[in-house]
Amino acid sequence: MSAETTPPAPAKSDFIRDIIAADVAANRHDGWVITRFPPEPNGYLHVGHAKSICLNFGLAQENAPKARCHLRFDDTNPAKEDTEYVDSIMEDVRWLGFDWGEHLHYASDYFEQLYLFAEQLINKGLAYVCDLTPEQMREYRGTLTEPGKPSPWRDRTVEENLDLFRRMRAGEFPDGLRILRAKIDMASPNINMRDPALYRILRAHHHRTGDAWCIYPMYDYAHPLSDALESITHSLCTLEFEHHRPLYEWLVNNVDGLPGQPMQREFARLNLTYTVMSKRKLLLLVKDGHVSGWDDPRMPTISGMRRRGYTPAAIRDFCKLIGLTKFQSLNDFALLEHSVREDLNKTALRAYGVIRPVKVVIENYPEGQVEHMEVANLPDAPEAGTRQVPLCRELYIEEDDFMETPAAGFHRLFPGGEVRLKFAFCIICKEVIKDSDGHIIELRCTYDDATRHGKKPDGRTKPKGIIHWVSAPHAIDAEVRLYERLFTEEQPDAGDADFLQVLNPASLTVTTAKLEPSLEQAKPGAHYQFERVGYFFADPVDSKPGTPVFNRTVGLKDAFAKQMAKA
Ligand code: ATP
Ligand code: MG
Repeated sequence: MSAETTPPAPAKSDFIRDIIAADVAANRHDGWVITRFPPEPNGYLHVGHAKSICLNFGLAQENAPKARCHLRFDDTNPAKEDTEYVDSIMEDVRWLGFDWGEHLHYASDYFEQLYLFAEQLINKGLAYVCDLTPEQMREYRGTLTEPGKPSPWRDRTVEENLDLFRRMRAGEFPDGLRILRAKIDMASPNINMRDPALYRILRAHHHRTGDAWCIYPMYDYAHPLSDALESITHSLCTLEFEHHRPLYEWLVNNVDGLPGQPMQREFARLNLTYTVMSKRKLLLLVKDGHVSGWDDPRMPTISGMRRRGYTPAAIRDFCKLIGLTKFQSLNDFALLEHSVREDLNKTALRAYGVIRPVKVVIENYPEGQVEHMEVANLPDAPEAGTRQVPLCRELYIEEDDFMETPAAGFHRLFPGGEVRLKFAFCIICKEVIKDSDGHIIELRCTYDDATRHGKKPDGRTKPKGIIHWVSAPHAIDAEVRLYERLFTEEQPDAGDADFLQVLNPASLTVTTAKLEPSLEQAKPGAHYQFERVGYFFADPVDSKPGTPVFNRTVGLKDAFAKQMAKA
């Protein structure tokens, strides 16, 4: 359920929502819709998880009041899990705008109960302790085309199985020596049903249960039973679990005393261009120092996107736009960026910044004179107020707003050419001054006072170009971090490709920009649109009032809404 004050717009229907609507109409589960988001705390959440979060928490909002969504940590794999991940996951889900209320759960809270369910299965003759080695297990399991063969330990008596399982728990056997398996069907065409493992012996310190256990339940065992223990009604997961569904149902049907009868349904995971999304691969990027951390603004993690300046509303909007299907697909990163722009356009305060400055001297503007232009902080939002932007004889403009030899169709500044300075007047470039290496250091210009306020003196053609500027003596220097795609390939890990080979060497450029003076006191975590340049975010970690540091969230050019490029 949401922390938002306004109810969310209803999502478009999709096959999951249709199933749920039919269940509610038929009063299945007494008309309740109880979902869960079940991360394993072995890494930070990424935007793929956001799809699942928006779906599960979204369904709870849409079906209120007889609905809720749990946050459950599926912490059955102690070796890879950590409380750092638990904390970050909670922070990220909250930041996305969702709230699990009282329903924060951990699979590890059910370890005792899950253990007793396993004894129950043994007592029913539905589980046995198996002594095959991992190699033998593989050999006995069969293949997709050949049935498996029964383990020689399959017909142990209930008493012997109970005794061995209890001794597994008591720590009498070394790691990996024995496992508990379900007794289902070694000839099943579905390999997941060929007597899958339920418990393994593993001496590993668990981030919550410490050293209390030396056997741990397998994910495929713990997950459905945890769902059932929480009375989850709809257990929604990604397509790769489709072949696990029969085992899910077998467990829910064969264990007695479960409060709920959850139903598993699968949807396609989110894949994004220019992105890897497996936690293992993201961990590698972090561990090997290819990025500065899980929250590096180039990472597809929620924390990375937050630090880059993406907003929760933008990510939620993106998840709504891509919808839900049963088919694997690849979504365009540009669509996510489109959602980010759409949201920031409404709220990001406007400001002026010149990222790659070149000096302009207006020769006929009086020396020592300063005038102040009153500029709206947010167009169409008078409540956002105005500010004074200083203008004087020396300015900075963007390097690429000048061309010494203008290309065809170039409508900005060039020698002899005229351009309008936004909010001010038109200037003509009279002379280009270079250093001994031939680099442009200064443009000498003149201005025409009759062109103020958009006026065009009679008989003159109006310059087509309008460029932004900052006053040179008033500008502040600020570190600006320009981010590009982390990978050069659309599908960096397609097939067996080594995604580290296609890291974009130009994914981060740090530069010193000239910014209008009001940005000096930018609050860490504030969003801006530097007009004509892009959306920028005062870095919440490194930026301080007085010494701001800005991350470029996204440029202005929108492949999905080309008309914006001209705005
Ligand atoms: P990874 O493959 O990155 O390690 P995972 O599936 O192992 O991801 P979990 O912590 O188990 O990570 O995921 C929690 C939930 O998020 C699961 O229900 C899973 O199906 C869902 N999820 C994970 N990745 C995606 C994705 N790319 N798109 C949609 N849902 C996802
Ligand atoms: Mg998983």
